[in-house]
Amino acid sequence: MRGCDGVSAITQAASVLLARGPKAAEVFVVRRAEALRFFGGFHAFPGGKVSENDEVPLWSDGTPGQDARVACAARELFEETGVLLARCDGAFPDPRPWEEERRRLLADTLRFGDFLSTHRLRLHAEDFLLAGSLVTPEFSPVRFDTAFYVATLPPGQHASVWPGELDAGFWTTADALLAGWTRGECLVSPPTVSLLELLRGRLATDLPALLAPVVRALEAGAIPPIYFAPGVQMIPLKTIGLPASTYTNAYLVGSEKLYLLDPGAHEPREQERLFETIDAPLAGVVLTHHHPDHVGAAAAVSSRYRLPVLAHPRTVELLKGRVQVDGTLDEDDRLDLGTAPDGSGPWHLEATFTPGHAGGHLVFYEPHYRLLFAGDMVSMLSSVVIAPPDGDLGLYLASLRRLRDIDCRMLLPGHGAPTVRPKQVIDDALAHRAKREEQLLAALREGGPQSVAGLASRLYRDLAAELLPLAALQVWAGLEKLQREGKAARVGTFKAEEAEDRHLWAAV
Ligand SMILES: [Zn+2]
Repeated sequence: MRGCDGVSAITQAASVLLARGPKAAEVFVVRRAEALRFFGGFHAFPGGKVSENDEVPLWSDGTPGQDARVACAARELFEETGVLLARCDGAFPDPRPWEEERRRLLADTLRFGDFLSTHRLRLHAEDFLLAGSLVTPEFSPVRFDTAFYVATLPPGQHASVWPGELDAGFWTTADALLAGWTRGECLVSPPTVSLLELLRGRLATDLPALLAPVVRALEAGAIPPIYFAPGVQMIPLKTIGLPASTYTNAYLVGSEKLYLLDPGAHEPREQERLFETIDAPLAGVVLTHHHPDHVGAAAAVSSRYRLPVLAHPRTVELLKGRVQVDGTLDEDDRLDLGTAPDGSGPWHLEATFTPGHAGGHLVFYEPHYRLLFAGDMVSMLSSVVIAPPDGDLGLYLASLRRLRDIDCRMLLPGHGAPTVRPKQVIDDALAHRAKREEQLLAALREGGPQSVAGLASRLYRDLAAELLPLAALQVWAGLEKLQREGKAARVGTFKAEEAEDRHLWAAV
């Protein structure tokens, strides 16, 4: 979905906040099946992507028009919940006899327009109140422009979810679902959290007025309120980096005591956006490691808010002359976060030393909701770069195996979206490295003495030229590891101005 310029395409989508009745506070919420790639296991409102199937007439004051997103909202709502917001001769029908059609629409073997015309059904604009549109922030490789509609359950109809893409659906109020989320009992997608926060104690029909100022602020460049867990705001910031990692996630974590993890933006304008987001007093800035895309705003935040910067002693050394670090953190150190958002007692972050990607890399575990702030141990966008001499592949793999043993429910990375399948992601990363090592050994055995750059262009044949230096670093890191294990050796040198490693390598 990523274009050649590194910017993701945006897919049109629609979602429905279905109120149980004209004055009811309850709305219908679905749980997306665990296996889904996008927000698997999360609660959200019914909805989905606009399809070519959605070119059906939309009637307004007796005149037919078109709005694919309204049609999408109606189709998705019927497919997912069995509720049909279409009228026959001005009245809502009982859609229960059309289970077979619902099944065929879900299976994409029946066109929505055909279904509607067969039963003389029409979509009416007045049944869909547009609350506003939200666009997935730029950091994500998968982006949607989602129109949220408010609708009311037609009299006599019932909402029910069939197992498949969704595994549950129920009526709830904003306050009840947010309370369960705050206790850590369920996952809720960040846009749903934002909408539910607006709806606390209000009716769904109030949503357009409540959402309008939020949409205006976002359009003006405000940082979106992205909450994957209570008391944890994810703040993707534009940083220096090659595609796909042009954004780095900072995290604002805590309730009474707030820490800002990895503020990476180095451009003043991007730092300004960050400052506008920070409205509570902070306890400190915490760095997972020293790379520029994780520390770019550390000095600016620290001096603006007079905050200490905390990092591993090795990171302190590596940042000397660039960022002043005021305190050190090491294995098992704790950062107190105050009282947990659900009021159940204190919560905190625990540091674990995970060298390899960077010599002073730390990850932070939050045991209350079982969150793991993983820095650059795992990227959800690409494989993690190991750049010698500071980067060490052997140490990185050992650190990755340690992370596997942490009992975490959600892993929050420096790049890309958080994942609720941390073990799978870590296992995939380990398997990928093992495969790369096999390929490297095979290339060494076949080709005789070779340079790092030569091996990189052989092993990463399809890679864009600008990314080849990164590939060369991976090869170099792999060779260093093989050398330590007695499987490869430096067998000569060669002259080259730009090469960082001027050795020829061979298998042992
Ligand atoms: Zn890094």
